[in-house]
Amino acid sequence: MRTAKGIKYIAIHCSAGFGTLDSIRAFWKSKGWRSPGYHILIDTDGTIHYLLDFSKTSNGVLGFNLETINICYKGGVENIGTLREPIWKAKDTRTEAQKAALETCIEEAKKWLQKNKNTNKIIIQGHRDFSPDKNKNGIIESWERIKECPSFDAKKEYNEKI
Ligand SMILES: [Zn+2]
Repeated sequence: MRTAKGIKYIAIHCSAGFGTLDSIRAFWKSKGWRSPGYHILIDTDGTIHYLLDFSKTSNGVLGFNLETINICYKGGVENIGTLREPIWKAKDTRTEAQKAALETCIEEAKKWLQKNKNTNKIIIQGHRDFSPDKNKNGIIESWERIKECPSFDAKKEYNEKI
């Protein structure tokens, strides 16, 4: 059971693609997920899509979701192949609008935690910063196949800045 007081992490993700929110939702559905993959998705133009209340558990970081708020920006990859045969490579593709929105969302999450009497020292980090051992329980998420998610050092950027 998720409680606001039990939350310890704000995890930053990239969507590892540039598909629409509808296509992302269809992907989650195809995997049989009942909950969205993230609490928030930030579009390339900085539009913030609120997908799930922070009080509810989203997917995102396998093994850590009860204690994590998951925030995702659209992108995080570049195609170094061709249109016909794309080869996706991790890349920090955040636009200025997305960077600003990410900070807004992190602040919102922190305010929500404070309001709900969470006294933990919240760790803000990228998906890739979670222990890989704990993620290895047999489910390979093709959506998350790029282990570099979110394609930049979120731990360094947000823990020092905010
Ligand atoms: Zn991720």
